Amino acid sequence: MTVAYRPEHAVLELDSRFYREVAPADFPQHAVRWRNQRWAERVGLGALSEAEWIAHFGKFDPLKGSLETPLALAYHGHQFQVYNPQIGDGRGFLFAQLRDDAGRLLDLGTKGSGQTPFSRSGDGRLTLKGGVREIMAASMLEAFGVYTSKAFSLIETGEQLHRNDEPSPTRSSVLVRLSHSHVRFGTFQRLAHGGDADGIGKLVEYCTRHFYPQAAGADMAASAVGLLREVVQATAELAASWMAAGFVHGVLNTDNMVVTGESFDYGPWRFLPYSDPSFTAAYFDARGLYAFGRQPSAALWNLSQLAESLTLLTDVAPLEQELSRFELFYREAFRRRMLGTLGLQPAGEEADLELLKTLFGWMGATRASWPQLFFDWFGGAASEARAAASPIASLYAAPDFAPVRSALMSHAPKRPERLAHDYFRGEVPARLLIEDVESTWAEIADSNNWMPFYRLMERIEMAREALAMEAVKHP
Ligand code: AMP
Ligand code: MG
Repeated sequence: MTVAYRPEHAVLELDSRFYREVAPADFPQHAVRWRNQRWAERVGLGALSEAEWIAHFGKFDPLKGSLETPLALAYHGHQFQVYNPQIGDGRGFLFAQLRDDAGRLLDLGTKGSGQTPFSRSGDGRLTLKGGVREIMAASMLEAFGVYTSKAFSLIETGEQLHRNDEPSPTRSSVLVRLSHSHVRFGTFQRLAHGGDADGIGKLVEYCTRHFYPQAAGADMAASAVGLLREVVQATAELAASWMAAGFVHGVLNTDNMVVTGESFDYGPWRFLPYSDPSFTAAYFDARGLYAFGRQPSAALWNLSQLAESLTLLTDVAPLEQELSRFELFYREAFRRRMLGTLGLQPAGEEADLELLKTLFGWMGATRASWPQLFFDWFGGAASEARAAASPIASLYAAPDFAPVRSALMSHAPKRPERLAHDYFRGEVPARLLIEDVESTWAEIADSNNWMPFYRLMERIEMAREALAMEAVKHP
């Protein structure tokens, strides 16, 4: 079935307080390195030729019927809990809006497309490695059922960049990501910072109209509370989904979280090698503020900043009431998501929590490989034989594993027919540990060999098909 291309320009309902018109950079080279054909088809752009793809996603010729000029979006944000009014789209812009096959309003946003009025001293560019890492993270998270932006296009652009966290000079790229809005918590914060209650009202209206129609209330105050309610729930679900995927985002600043609860903006992310709440992704996060186990509280802290901005429209008490729901939403989502990761049916709160406590106790003590464990025991009892043939089978044979085994056995497999997929015939899962990322990148950096990268992406795609995670209802 072919999906029709449905261009939109809903963002123009918002006025120039929200963005600046900008021009893309003129790049010396355009080599397509990634074309997300599956998602291109879902938004009606699957038939573009290579030349057309480059024209739109490397040179930014407007997509017919959408925006005529790219818009660098204006926002502020708390970075590591320090307010920064000096940010905004400094190396990206909103390029186009369109709808997918489910009717969702989506943005095509860029990263590395040139300087903007928000760039300050930055070059407006994205390194090729940064682009490749974003594709990897977004694809793996999608496979695990995390609600994430999609890496839509990556074009290598032929410039030499200088960065202090990569051997320099290093290669350049421009990324296009497909996501369900770029309305960040920091978009609200910027308006609140300027005392612009009218602007916040416009933004609340935009969000309720396009993402959360059920949140619209009788007046602006009610809509603000209704919006926060939805964002709290979506963000709790998001935090739980990162935890269940063993994912450390790395930079949970308020400018990196959007109202639709979609995970996006992948910089120094890591997947956990083993269970460790203190595992920290970003080398510049010396205090471990955004460590694996702190992600739910970081998400809640960010929500409270969003709520603070909404106090320009309504009273504090109802907003606090909404924030207070986070913990329950989170706990419920975490339990459901963890069982999903294990491919098991829930067996009631008590039995589920017992399983998770036993499992994580054992994983913490043994430092068993996180990705291997969840691959081996997907489907619980239905995977006994597979687990016995695992590279880490000796760990499962040790006496301290017995309580974990029996807790796993007390849960029925969920859709065990999934185990028939070829993916489960292998001994190892699709993996994105730092050594996998670095060795894949090294082939590109050292000999421009992209084969290991495409093979890795095929493995991830296979995992996505095999796991067939249930879609959670999203805005
Ligand atoms: P990010 O790390 O992409 O979330 O960016 C955080 C802030 O720094 C945003 O305002 C970006 O636009 C800005 N920024 C990051 N890197 C660059 C760059 N190379 N040039 C211009 N602005 C940048
Ligand atoms: Mg960002």
